[in-house]
Amino acid sequence: MRETDSMAQADAKLRSIVEMAMSVLSHEIGCDDCFEFFAAYADHIRNGNEIPEPLRTVAEHLERCPACTEEMRLLVVALEAAKIAG
Ligand SMILES: [Zn+2]
Repeated sequence: MRETDSMAQADAKLRSIVEMAMSVLSHEIGCDDCFEFFAAYADHIRNGNEIPEPLRTVAEHLERCPACTEEMRLLVVALEAAKIAG
């Protein structure tokens, strides 16, 4: 079992994503910026976690952008499918 290792890695990854998000998301983001954070955002959706402050800008973008909303929906579906397959 490498549960602890993978969790630590996920933590470190999330921290770096959040740090990047904090620097990028201080202004309104575009689709390209939004896409950078899709994986992190999708994880929160799938785990039913509260969306952390830096990722709320992504949520705001999704509310305005049907294209990204659809991309996000497909990503969550794909991740769920991968989880079932794995
Ligand atoms: Zn968009």
